[in-house]
Amino acid sequence: MPIYEYKCKDCGTRFERIRSMKDADASIGCQHCASDNTVRVLSTCYTKSDGMTSRSSSSGCAGCSGGSCSSCSH
Ligand SMILES: [Zn+2]
Repeated sequence: MPIYEYKCKDCGTRFERIRSMKDADASIGCQHCASDNTVRVLSTCYTKSDGMTSRSSSSGCAGCSGGSCSSCSH
């Protein structure tokens, strides 16, 4: 299943969740402040995998624990 990234409008926390595609746009609570005022943002890791075959596996962004995507935020 794809990894979706969400951002909380209240506290600014970004977090990732693995969800099925049908649930991608369903509301999700912030893991930091439990607010449901969150929006889905495009995961740069996931979209960039199109041009990076070496990291094309679905777990290519698994190293980005906690949302600090330093390895793929270029
Ligand atoms: Zn929050």
